[in-house]
Amino acid sequence: MPVLQLRYMGDPILRKKAAKVEPEEIDDKFRQFIADMLETMYTNEGVGLAAPQVGESKRLIVYDNMEAGYRLDPQALINPEIVEREGSCRGEEGCLSIPEIKDMVERAERIVVRGLDRDGNEMEIEAEGMQARVIQHEIDHLEGILFVDRLGGVKKRLAVSRWKKLRKELEARQSA
Ligand SMILES: [Zn+2]
Repeated sequence: MPVLQLRYMGDPILRKKAAKVEPEEIDDKFRQFIADMLETMYTNEGVGLAAPQVGESKRLIVYDNMEAGYRLDPQALINPEIVEREGSCRGEEGCLSIPEIKDMVERAERIVVRGLDRDGNEMEIEAEGMQARVIQHEIDHLEGILFVDRLGGVKKRLAVSRWKKLRKELEARQSA
């Protein structure tokens, strides 16, 4: 399974609203793409990944079901929609599209999400804590929102300027 090229903050695809996946698009080729996304997520030691982060502006997210133990229960959700939110909590987040930047973000404590599974069947899941945080973070990507957008003004500016420096280093390393 190929590991896909990650897109980094600054890439316009990360700011686009992703397109809904039509049921007829969910075929073996699409399932292979899901498998490649999961491979990309695990290779980069991530806990979640949204399709725009690998250059596909589609409403698809993958994540690790941490309750089962890392890498044991990979999940995919197509056209995910949060239908219930409850409570709020702060926790640290990072993003494979903004490597090395981490900060505290406020999220709903518990959510209910509806979407389609990789066979196109409707599904509904309930998540809380860290799992709910990951799913909310990934669904934000489908709206063109990055976690740094959820930081206060000064913290966001600091994170973005730190990232700009890191991005130059990263690009230098990749072309070396
Ligand atoms: Zn992210």
